[in-house]
Amino acid sequence: MAGEPQADCLFCKIVAGDVPATVVRETATTVAFQDINPQAPSHVLVIPKAHYPDAASLAEGAPEVAADVLREAGAVAAQEKVAENGYRVVFNTGSGAGQTVFHAHAHVLGGRGLNWPPG
Ligand code: 5GP
Repeated sequence: MAGEPQADCLFCKIVAGDVPATVVRETATTVAFQDINPQAPSHVLVIPKAHYPDAASLAEGAPEVAADVLREAGAVAAQEKVAENGYRVVFNTGSGAGQTVFHAHAHVLGGRGLNWPPG
């Protein structure tokens, strides 16, 4: 069923505490943790606790949780002290766009200059 934990999903395992992560924020519906392979001085992932494979399916199936993820992305940027100089929120969607973990997640990147367009 949509939103249910998936046994083979890495981020569901992080939500369950079965895979360790450096958690920086947690709410009733979301978890934010340090990316294991940071692409900027500050690189945090914000995920819904519920399993949806990408941002679009999250927005379709649980729009209130999608809003929670966006709100938390802003809270992470403030907490990480990258909001003032600008930060980027990225949802890679589909393998062609670089998505490798098929549990919706927002990358929150900051702490350095960010070029446009992204690669
Ligand atoms: P995607 O490529 O799907 O947009 O982003 C997945 C992100 O998850 C990547 O930036 C990758 O570094 C991160 N990642 C993959 N495995 C782990 C892990 O076990 N722990 C943490 N904290 N991050 C991970």
